[in-house]
Amino acid sequence: MSQPVRLMWFRGDLRLADNPALHAACAAGGPVALVYVLDERAGAASRWWLHQSLTALSREIEPLGGHLILRRGEPLAVIPALAAEIGAGAVHVARAFEPAHRALDRALDASLKTHGIALHRHQSLSLFAPERILTKTGTPYGVFTPFAKACQEAGIPDDACPRPARIQGVQAPGDDLASWALLPTRPDWAGGLRAEWQPGEAGAQQRLNAFLAGPMAAYATARDLPGRPGTSKLSPHIHFGEISPRRLWHAATQAEGQGTATFLKELLWREFSLHLLWQHPTLRTRPIRPEFEHFPWQPDPSALQAWQSGRTGVPIVDAGMRELWRTGWMHNRVRMICASYLVKHLLIPWQAGEAWFWDTLVDADEAANGASWQWVAGCGADAAPYFRIFNPVLQGQKFDPEGQYVRRFVPELARLPNACLHAPWLAPPSVLAAAGVRLGTTYPRPQAELAEGRARALAAFAMLKG
Ligand SMILES: Cc1cc2nc3c(=O)[nH]c(=O)nc-3n(C[C@H](O)[C@H](O)[C@H](O)COP(=O)(O)OP(=O)(O)OC[C@H]3O[C@@H](n4cnc5c(N)ncnc54)[C@H](O)[C@@H]3O)c2cc1C
Repeated sequence: MSQPVRLMWFRGDLRLADNPALHAACAAGGPVALVYVLDERAGAASRWWLHQSLTALSREIEPLGGHLILRRGEPLAVIPALAAEIGAGAVHVARAFEPAHRALDRALDASLKTHGIALHRHQSLSLFAPERILTKTGTPYGVFTPFAKACQEAGIPDDACPRPARIQGVQAPGDDLASWALLPTRPDWAGGLRAEWQPGEAGAQQRLNAFLAGPMAAYATARDLPGRPGTSKLSPHIHFGEISPRRLWHAATQAEGQGTATFLKELLWREFSLHLLWQHPTLRTRPIRPEFEHFPWQPDPSALQAWQSGRTGVPIVDAGMRELWRTGWMHNRVRMICASYLVKHLLIPWQAGEAWFWDTLVDADEAANGASWQWVAGCGADAAPYFRIFNPVLQGQKFDPEGQYVRRFVPELARLPNACLHAPWLAPPSVLAAAGVRLGTTYPRPQAELAEGRARALAAFAMLKG
């Protein structure tokens, strides 16, 4: 008897290796239709990545006999229609954490059932299913340290699914990727992204290998230094599912050196963010701590625009914002500094920063971005207390002491000596002149006086408490 057709719907898992949904669809040995449905919510940088990643995925699939079908539209209509066209008996997809996908899956499950088609959702995007890690009283964790401990105790099984050796592909009409216009045209701002990244499963593996062979050993300390290549830069690959979290976890555990434990902890921060999104579907827009709904923010479009374009007058902040614009990525330490400057010194609502990161990061992720912005703003679960305010000058001096990072992204300050680089407004006029810096002309004066900004932030917080 011939095997029924199965439909494999790629969603957040653009890979062939250790892909439980793909493995299950192929394991039955019958024909498998492979589909990707465009997620219209993606920001501009993510759309660039998506184009490259789908191209790479398609290239991996074709030699195995498969064929990637691209469809656009509401998945609730697209998936049942495609299933009916090809006579599919089952649909396989990765289980999602995003609220929009969860609501969709419920509706899709009901819709497919009426046609006798089963929807199989596979645990694939995280180390654990969302309801697996709970407190002793059966509630989700709201604090990172006990959550991480519970994950470590639960153990992460090392049972990766094999990459399919061949796929009995099913042809069906689909869109041409170019017609989705995911790449920028005029202006083409993606030159820096092309120079930096190789999206796709092979690029992810290369990035991982290079990290394990080099920076991993010193990760525990070097991860905080933005001027050095001290972190993995795997975040966009992880976000698009080009490498599985389980494989990454086990590859890291086998690495030698002191960096391993710290790196695994960061992977658990990702896991924690996903669990927060599961608990708080409005993570991207509403504060977890309800009292912050009434925080006296002071929206300021021109200050926001200066921050977005890396023209705040605070060198480490500007370097970070320009790194983001140029490469689609920003170093974690600098993300914290830039975010803190926006919400504390400028009192601009954290949601405005979240939205800019969403549009410009190649790793823009609903869970990690939402949770991290809330963490910095002090309104999230287990957040940095609001009154702890990063001083961007001291942060720059501590984590970029030689100034390599600032000089790379803010070249107009490159000739300043280290002692003045992070606070050029304090430099003697003769030093500025010798370095070719004219404040207010070649480089902006700071938008906000730092001590004043800090005092304003503390006063705003006091109003919230009172
Ligand atoms: C304001 C702000 C916004 C952020 N937005 C995002 C985002 O949209 N997408 C995103 O993936 N990360 C986000 N992060 C978390 C972190 O900055 C990035 O994951 C990290 O910089 C990615 O670089 P890497 O791959 O070299 O990280 P590594 O240091 O090599 O860490 C390995 C992996 O662990 C995960 N990870 C590390 N730190 C965190 C963290 N604090 N929270 C959650 N996961 C973490 C990432 O998947 C990362 O790739 C944000 C942080 C801040 C402060």
